[in-house]
Amino acid sequence: MFQKVLIANRGDVALRVIRACRELGVRTVAIHSTADAEAMHVRLADESVCVGPPAAKDSYLNIAAIITAADITGADAIHPGLGFLAENARFAQIVEDHGHTFIGPTPAQIDMLGDKIRAKQAALAANLPIVPGGLEPIPNAEAAAKAARAAGYPVLIKAAAGGGGRGMQRVEHPDALSRAFDIATSEAEAAFGDGSVFVEKAIDRPRHIEVQVLGDGEGYAVHLGERDCTVQRRFQKLIEEAPSPVLTPAERARVGRLAADLAASINYRGAGTVEFLYAGGQFYFIEMNARLQVEHPVTEFVTGVDIVEAQLRIAAGAGLGLRQDDIEFRGHAIEARINAEDPERFTPSPGVINLFHPPGGPGVRVDSHVFQGARVPPYYDSLIAKLIVHGKDRPAALARLARALDEFVIEGVSTNLALHRRIIRSDDFIANRIDVVWLERWLVA
Ligand code: ADP
Repeated sequence: MFQKVLIANRGDVALRVIRACRELGVRTVAIHSTADAEAMHVRLADESVCVGPPAAKDSYLNIAAIITAADITGADAIHPGLGFLAENARFAQIVEDHGHTFIGPTPAQIDMLGDKIRAKQAALAANLPIVPGGLEPIPNAEAAAKAARAAGYPVLIKAAAGGGGRGMQRVEHPDALSRAFDIATSEAEAAFGDGSVFVEKAIDRPRHIEVQVLGDGEGYAVHLGERDCTVQRRFQKLIEEAPSPVLTPAERARVGRLAADLAASINYRGAGTVEFLYAGGQFYFIEMNARLQVEHPVTEFVTGVDIVEAQLRIAAGAGLGLRQDDIEFRGHAIEARINAEDPERFTPSPGVINLFHPPGGPGVRVDSHVFQGARVPPYYDSLIAKLIVHGKDRPAALARLARALDEFVIEGVSTNLALHRRIIRSDDFIANRIDVVWLERWLVA
């Protein structure tokens, strides 16, 4: 195992990694911006290094400063957390070139999976069902029109380098295609520095179902079951649960197998997530995320596997230590993402938290870096807490989530707690009459 790990991140994910390291007896180094000098990850790590001013590009994305911090503190490995540099192949390569271990997939795997077109090609090669279309980059509006005709309207124009739902345009009719192509290309260029886009069929009212995988880097991979992340706003997940309440046991086994097959086929190393859309009893691969996900705790609750510990062990060369048959599933888990945001307009709500009372009791886990008196800076993501509950089945987990959400008190910044309380009591959510655009319809209804 490593002696010392530097965590190239902030927020609750930095705490999550520090906690796993502590339990393994590994020392930790936090990095932080000047805006985060008092942050919880800085307080809980054994050492900390300031890597720059508030703007992420100057601090949490400042590769030179992060490598220097690892060098001067003598960290033998770097965990990228999620977001920031977690899926930056160049960063992973530089980490390794400087003699530190990158806790994650290989740079080549990150590079390949970061391109949704190449990821779809790999999925197809591993016999996964994919969303029709999108196997090549589209150079111009004419090629887009041809690809859209082949896939069949409505279509989505998506950024090859996309993430966070950005650079995605839905097109209902050929007349709107050329303009949507231009918008998608410029959005992709602005957001990712890469304007490549592709066209794929828009699946009608799908659910989002993803599978957690762990690969040993040598062609063996296991899956830890699926998560259902259908409650989304603008392609951003808000509530995630495991297992999916709509799959049959046969479908569950099939999608798990498909995901593990893809990971094994590319010799995937570490933790990853294979994402599918599900509609009309069919699965359609959309992408694979080469990192830890925000929603990993629901899988930890139902499997008892510590996913961050697994990442550390795999990176340290201790192997997977798990076979598929070892993994057992128990009960039902649900996560609600608590954001500091305006409840009506969904704009970020930075400020000082003057009251923070998280829920507790049986089957309740709160992953959060904030505390009473903490400042939520305006520069980063608005996620301030993840509330995850576990119960013997879905009704028990829902009752627990309702009770825990009612106990949760956060004052000083606006949050989406009230929205969560409404969603989980809605008839559609309880009865599973939802799809990825359900929330947007329900909010205006
Ligand atoms: P990102 O990487 O930007 O998050 P994804 O490809 O993972 O983009 O898709 C995010 C969400 O967008 C999905 O969960 C789903 O709600 C929607 N989506 C993506 N592709 C399609 C599609 N072909 N048809 C319908 N919805 C889609």
